[in-house]
Amino acid sequence: MQKQHIIGLSKEELIAVLENLGEKPFRAKQIWQWIYFKGARTFDEMTNLSKELRQKLNDCFILSRPKIISEQISKDKTHKWLLEFDDGERVETVYIPELDRGAVCISSQVGCAMGCKFCLTGTQKLTRNLTAGEIVSQFMVARDAYGEWPSPTLQTRYLSNIVMMGMGEPLQNEENVIKALNILSDGDGIAISRRRITMSTCGIAPKICSVLEKTGVRLAISLHAPNNEIRNSLMPINKVYPIEQILAQAQKYQQKDGSRYVTFEYLMLDGINDSPTQAKELVALLKKHKIRATFNLIPFNPWAGSDFKPSTDQKVKAFADILNKAGFAAPVRTARGGDISAACGQLKSKNK
Ligand code: SF4
Repeated sequence: MQKQHIIGLSKEELIAVLENLGEKPFRAKQIWQWIYFKGARTFDEMTNLSKELRQKLNDCFILSRPKIISEQISKDKTHKWLLEFDDGERVETVYIPELDRGAVCISSQVGCAMGCKFCLTGTQKLTRNLTAGEIVSQFMVARDAYGEWPSPTLQTRYLSNIVMMGMGEPLQNEENVIKALNILSDGDGIAISRRRITMSTCGIAPKICSVLEKTGVRLAISLHAPNNEIRNSLMPINKVYPIEQILAQAQKYQQKDGSRYVTFEYLMLDGINDSPTQAKELVALLKKHKIRATFNLIPFNPWAGSDFKPSTDQKVKAFADILNKAGFAAPVRTARGGDISAACGQLKSKNK
């Protein structure tokens, strides 16, 4: 029998495989806690299991992390890992610390097929989807590095949030993403609250609501433009699912729960989407669709081969002021990890 990875099995799947091995369901709960609550890295350390069961687990499963090929820590303490999976494929994962908490930005695919013009990942062709286990284990590598095992209480966590904003478009890999997010938020294990997990999409409209319903996580949309004309020029996917279709889904998502805000990611590109007129157009667009939203205004991080330039601080401020006056929070995100190419849109795991 070929060994399978145990990280990435859902609770139900774990119960079923253990039943096949002649074990009671409560054993699955114990194993789950060892892996996801205590961070065990071998079956042999699971001391409340019999030797016989530990041997069975060793015979049937692999319990391992992806290989760390390199890691870098930037001046502002942003931490980036280049991770390699069994087949040699690689992704990048980033931890962005704040004072007493922080977010781990995880990847969902090797490369990306969406080809957003401002994004370095988009220049790396899609190789494959990540499995649920490969998505979850990125977070586990980060926890290993900060010694956050067993899962700490919420107040004492440095790795407090998860953003699915790394390499790839999560909604192109929705089955594995749903499974992974449900493992990451499971209260018996890693236990990151669903409200502290954000999934960011470039706008695969028909899949937005179903994935959010199945996971309960928060929604962020990479908008980056106030109209279809500009968005078409930046994001090829907009020609398939234009802004109106995406906003209709965002509205539907909010109708289920009035407290949900949608975050719109908006990259500030000099002379492209950053004028006061465009800010007003954006306000009118969201008011028309009655969407409660916050914006993240993101400074563009230049990369070799890209013609885009970052907007000036003055322009960003003027843009933010217009959004604020219209009632939308619009914090300007500080560029993080730029010196180690860990900032938004800078992740790439291949040199060609
Ligand atoms: S912004 Fe996201 S969806 Fe677009 S190319 Fe980059 S990784 Fe892919």
